[in-house]
Amino acid sequence: NAEKNKQTEKLALVGELAAGIAHEIRNPLTSIKGFAQLIYEKRGQDLPPFYYETILEELDRIDLIVGEMVVLAKPAPETKRKVDLDKVLQDSVNLMSYQANLKEVQLVLNVEPGTLYIEGVVGQLKQVFINLIKNAIEAIENKGTVTIQARRQGEEVIITVEDTGPGMDKDVIKKLGTPFFSTKEKGTGLGLTITYRIIQNHKGKISVQSKKGVGTKFTISWSVSRS
Ligand code: ADP
Ligand code: MG
Repeated sequence: NAEKNKQTEKLALVGELAAGIAHEIRNPLTSIKGFAQLIYEKRGQDLPPFYYETILEELDRIDLIVGEMVVLAKPAPETKRKVDLDKVLQDSVNLMSYQANLKEVQLVLNVEPGTLYIEGVVGQLKQVFINLIKNAIEAIENKGTVTIQARRQGEEVIITVEDTGPGMDKDVIKKLGTPFFSTKEKGTGLGLTITYRIIQNHKGKISVQSKKGVGTKFTISWSVSRS
């Protein structure tokens, strides 16, 4: 029965995603088609560069969406191993440091080394932290701090990603994780969908606290690895 529920849930997500994809990909396709048509009609003439630029930009957009879909659609779950979250967090922070520097956002990593072992897939866990840190950096308009903390509390490992960004409205918080929900002009709205899926695959929990004008804090918890 649990297996059946899982299956039903999966199908529901597929339906939700399919509707979203159709919509998200159709927009850039329509504009690519329009410009291709124009280029064809005006063949032999000197054409403005933005005809080509628009086509390339819209293709990049489709590429981005499809790239994230591939992560979501990954079929067979990879085998889980004992993972040192300390290292995964270090790597994730390093990967995001360039983007943080560009916006004068300080990334602060505060971990309790040697205590943060969970069962997981390194690549997926890294994806979780990259998505959360990326959102935190993007939320901060101009200068700020993103603090990542990880500690062991009894049999749990608790990680928080906190930013000094503008915070979120209640109606935004409610939609977090919904495929294609984004308030950003160039967002895909798939980051948190992927993040929530991965955490679910890892039997973890995620919650969010956010206050307008103060910031946002995501908290994730996992059981510690016993092996
Ligand atoms: P995307 O980043 O492509 O918009 P996500 O799924 O990563 O998609 O995030 C969905 C939405 O959640 C964002 O567009 C933003 O409105 C909101 N959000 C996520 N993280 C934060 C944050 N740290 N601060 C403020 N808003 C956030
Ligand atoms: Mg995002």
